[in-house]
Amino acid sequence: MVKDRHGKPRKYGKGSRICTRCGNYSTVIQKYNLMLCRQCFREVASRIGFVKYS
Ligand SMILES: [Zn+2]
Repeated sequence: MVKDRHGKPRKYGKGSRICTRCGNYSTVIQKYNLMLCRQCFREVASRIGFVKYS
């Protein structure tokens, strides 16, 4: 269970997930089962051929 800086467990929302690539607790994209933060998503996406969008 991921906990926020106050030690409370987060089940949803920001901080509820951790990036599987860099361990970042910020906005993690669970779409397509990626489980990556935005930064890693950008890197990985371009590498695996994702089309850029907004
Ligand atoms: Zn990351």
